[in-house]
Parts: sequence; structure tokens; C-alpha cells
Amino acid sequence: MSDVPKTHPRYLSLTLRDKIVAGVAQGITSTHGLIAHGRGEAFDYLVGEATQPFAMEAIHAAAVMLLSAEHPIISVNGNVAALAPEGLIELGQVLNAPLEVNIFHTETGREQKIREHLQKHGASGVLMPTTEAQLSYIDSNRKFVHPEGILKADVVFVPLEDGDRCEALRKMGKDVVTVDLNPMSRTAKQASITIVDNVVRALPLLCEKSRELSSDVPAQDLLKRYSNAAVLQAALQHISRSGND
Ligand code: ATP
Ligand code: MG
Repeated sequence: MSDVPKTHPRYLSLTLRDKIVAGVAQGITSTHGLIAHGRGEAFDYLVGEATQPFAMEAIHAAAVMLLSAEHPIISVNGNVAALAPEGLIELGQVLNAPLEVNIFHTETGREQKIREHLQKHGASGVLMPTTEAQLSYIDSNRKFVHPEGILKADVVFVPLEDGDRCEALRKMGKDVVTVDLNPMSRTAKQASITIVDNVVRALPLLCEKSRELSSDVPAQDLLKRYSNAAVLQAALQHISRSGND
């Protein structure tokens, strides 16, 4: 890790860069993941590098949806594994949902390295892609899934998703909960619930909300009233105002 002083005004942002760069060095994160991270950084700047009310609303709905799921699953890629392994594991424990590795670029045993990285941080079972179970409507390597994981899931939590796969999961009748700083991405628009926030801020809040709601039967009425499009609109309005503050 580089020696970023805590007093630096961009401390958090620079720390996250260090984590992503370390992820690449460890063979967990793809070099392409650096570009995706840069796009996220730009939107985080516009969002104000803080969890905004539209993200809190989405986190609440996401907790309800995930707690109400019969077979929830947490899909893990190389960026999230590098940025927030502890948050993923904690969410898995709170929801009683397995983690499943699913990545686009599968160079040099990266799937296995992600699994080992998660296990090193305390994950017990980590599901891996198989050739026996495949998603429909998708041609990339990300179609290979685990029969007891993503294939069987009714709700897929997949932070930093690619639009193609989000669309495929939705066409297969699954609900998708995503975290994506870009409210204009195809993923953000197609997901059932999009949390427009940095995954490192959203994950602990989602764990906290899920824990808080887990003692009661979650109020599903909230989901009937929930509009992903309206929440994305609120995010866009916030961004368009951000230069005037
Ligand atoms: P789509 O395929 O959905 O249209 P895209 O092709 O623009 O999106 P991808 O590279 O597929 O982008 O996915 C990366 C997405 O993740 C981007 O929208 C980016 O803003 C977002 N992102 C990157 N880092 C973070 C982060 N730390 N937290 C939340 N979102 C992030
Ligand atoms: Mg994409």
C-alpha cells in the first residue's frame, strides 16, 4: 500500500485505488477492472462521495427483497473482492446466502484466486462456476454458474454488474439487486433495485439494515410501491445539482 496520509483530502479515494491496484497485483482483479473503477470514481465525485437519501431508500428495499428471497445469492467479481471482501462475507452471514464467483475475464486462474482470497477473509463455502449449469441469453464466460447458486437463485445480489448479464438474469425471471455509481448504466436501469452508491459504503449499510429487519417478517408492501426508475431519477437530479452547491 502506498503511504497516503490520513489528512489527505482524497484519503478514502486513494485508499480504494490502492486496494484495486493490490487486487491486480494479487491476480484477483482484472486490469480491465481498473477502468471500471475509474468510471466509478468519476460518478462518486458527482454523487458527493457520500451515501445520499436515494441510496438509503434503495438499501432499505434491497434488504427487504433479499430477506424475503427463497434462494438469495451474492455474486462476486474481481473488483468487489478486492474492495470489500469483509462486507460480502458479513452480508452472506446475515442473509444466509452463499457467495459465488462470477467474472468476465478468466485469465490465469483468477476465479480460484478470488475464492482463496474470500476464504482467507473468513468465507466458508464459496460456490464456483461450472459447465453443467449455464445462464440463458448470454454468450460470455459469465454464463457458467453453479447449479445450487446463481442458477437456482430467485434474487441475485450483484454489485458492479455488467449490463449484459443483468439483462440475462432479468429475462430468466430473477430479481437483481445491484450497487452501481452510474445511474445511467444499463445495469442500473435494468436491475430490480439499484443502490447508487460506492460499494464500500453501501455494503456495511446493507448489512446493518438487513440485520435490523431480520427479526421481523419484512414488509413486502414496500416493494410493491418501490420504483427503481424514480430512485434513479432522484440520483440524476442530485448529480445535476451537484455543481451548484
Ligand atoms: P453497463 O454494462 O451496465 O452499461 P458499463 O459497461 O458502463 O455498464 P461496467 O464496466 O460494465 O460499466 O461496470 C462497471 C460499473 O460499476 C460502472 O457503472 C461503474 O460506475 C461502477 N462502479 C465502479 N466502481 C464502483 C464502486 N466502487 N462502487 C459502485 N459502483 C462502481
Ligand atoms: Mg458493461
